[in-house]
Amino acid sequence: MTVQRVSRSSRSTAFKEVRSRLRSRGLRWTPQRRALIDVLSATDGHVTGAELVELCRDRDPETTPSTVYRTLEVLEEIGLVKHSHGRDGRQEFHIAPASEHGHAICENCGEVRELSEGDVAGLVGSLGKRGFAVDLSHLTVGGLCPRCGNSGVPLA
Ligand SMILES: [Zn+2]
Ligand SMILES: [Zn+2]
Ligand SMILES: [Zn+2]
Repeated sequence: MTVQRVSRSSRSTAFKEVRSRLRSRGLRWTPQRRALIDVLSATDGHVTGAELVELCRDRDPETTPSTVYRTLEVLEEIGLVKHSHGRDGRQEFHIAPASEHGHAICENCGEVRELSEGDVAGLVGSLGKRGFAVDLSHLTVGGLCPRCGNSGVPLA
C-alpha cells in the first residue's frame, strides 16, 4: 500500500490561479473566500465542510456555511479541490490532490490511509473492462489498521 503525499509546491502552483478562475465563474474574490483557501491550504486534507466552516469562523465570525459550501463547489468544479466520503458518509475535502486516491479507514481507531491507483488496480481494471470508470476519490474501504487488527503486516 502506498501513501500518497501532496507536495506543497504543487499546491501553491494550483492556488495561484484561483483568483482569476473564480472571477471567470462570476464569483467575486472576497475576504471570506480568501480565508477559506488559506484554511484549506493549512490542512492536510480530509477535512469536512462543517470543520471548514468552523475554521473559517475562527477567522471571520460572519462566515456563512453557504459561502463556504458554494466556494468549495466552485473549487471542485475547477479541479482545485476533490471530495471523498468518510466513514459516516460525510464529505471530506482535499486540496488539489496531485493524484487521485481512495481511502482505507480503520473502523476501530479511525485512522485514514490513502490508496493509490496501484493499490486498487485489480478493481479498477476489472470494472474498466465492463465499461465502468472508477472515480478513485469516491472509493472508501473500511477495515482494521495493523495496530488494531494485529495482522502483523505493516501498511507502508
Ligand atoms: Zn461524493
Ligand atoms: Zn486502527
Ligand atoms: Zn485523501
